Amino acid sequence: MPSVAEARESILSHVTRLGVENAPALDALGRVLAADVKAPWDMPRWDNSAMDGYAVRAGDCVNSRSLALSGFLPAGSHSAEVLAPGTAVKILTGAPLPPGADAVVPVAEVEERDGAILIRGPVRYGAHVRRNGEDIQSGEAVLLAGTVVGPAEISALASFSRLLVPVVRRVRVAILSTGDELVEPGQPLPPGRIPDSNSFALAAAVKQAGGEPILLGIAKDDRTSLEAQLKEGLEADALVTSAGVSMGDRDLVREVLQALSVRQVFWKIDIKPGRPTAFGMNGAKPVFSLPGNPVSTLLTFEEFVRPALLKMMGHRRWLRPLVPALQEDLPKKPGRVVFLRVRLERRGGALLAWPSGNQDTGILRTQLLADGIALLPADQGNLESGTPVDVQILRDGFPSEP
Ligand code: AMP
Ligand code: MG
Repeated sequence: MPSVAEARESILSHVTRLGVENAPALDALGRVLAADVKAPWDMPRWDNSAMDGYAVRAGDCVNSRSLALSGFLPAGSHSAEVLAPGTAVKILTGAPLPPGADAVVPVAEVEERDGAILIRGPVRYGAHVRRNGEDIQSGEAVLLAGTVVGPAEISALASFSRLLVPVVRRVRVAILSTGDELVEPGQPLPPGRIPDSNSFALAAAVKQAGGEPILLGIAKDDRTSLEAQLKEGLEADALVTSAGVSMGDRDLVREVLQALSVRQVFWKIDIKPGRPTAFGMNGAKPVFSLPGNPVSTLLTFEEFVRPALLKMMGHRRWLRPLVPALQEDLPKKPGRVVFLRVRLERRGGALLAWPSGNQDTGILRTQLLADGIALLPADQGNLESGTPVDVQILRDGFPSEP
């Protein structure tokens, strides 16, 4: 039975990057650039004013500080007329400097009266001027292949009028729930039946990772139903099933997958919760068979499926950031990695983690209350309060010091 690290390594070694497509800049958000983006022109494109003020020749202001006002350049305007010596032009932030001007004097340092200005202090050559190309130069690779596109990258793309950008395509992930007890959420619930929550949960997790979920629905615990739907699922880039992978009489998922030529790489990982997790390959396509308990399903997706999907989409960081945190007393038997759903709070500069509730896999509430997942190493025994542990942060923010 592989350890967490071995299972993850094995999965990552089996999956490869998907192809590339041109995406509209906004749809590139969160995706990975497949090629460098070169600047088609300088930024800024011309010397321009960094302040609302007056464009001058600095040399004019050495002896006399009184200059005749000869014009007005708001943002969006442009003047090809050379600034006559001894004069100034009123200019607003972002407007190109007129030829001949080499400094801007901010409004606050000037008195304007009767068509002239009086400058209060000395004027430095180049003051408050944003130089042509000082930010980015034409031809420069401003974004590098491999970069994850965020708002700043999209700002750069828009600045250069790049409407389409080459990115690794989104992974299409087929999702199949299995179990005779399941009904689609919203449908009538006869006694003994429960809504299929895993399909929605996995679809949400796939979307959050940047992939495209394909909901296949629910397969019954019989070979015919499973075979038909698993076959359909194998058309996608990756297939994720939930339930039906334990040792029960009706746990047929692995058997049917094998009949469909999915080569099993491993079955069961040495963890708690989520032990009965299976991984196989159908040609170049990964197939994940996750356990059915909703908490285990999400946890094993997080630990094993998400990294694979991220790698397929060209990401180079596959794991969430780990933050060292302290915690309260915790019983644990050495032997197996335990994932603990925890709440986090910042106290006195340190992060404090403690279990968010009952850790049984049947308890969803504990997941709802969790800010992160603490990894307790295999050889770790009982933990005393104050022991540092690694916590994977699941939420963007969590309660800070009260
Ligand atoms: P199994 O792995 O088939 O033994 O399922 C383990 C537990 O997870 C059982 O209590 C199932 O009813 C539950 N379960 C399985 N699939 C789902 C699902 N799609 N949505 C909600 N609960 C599920
Ligand atoms: Mg079942």
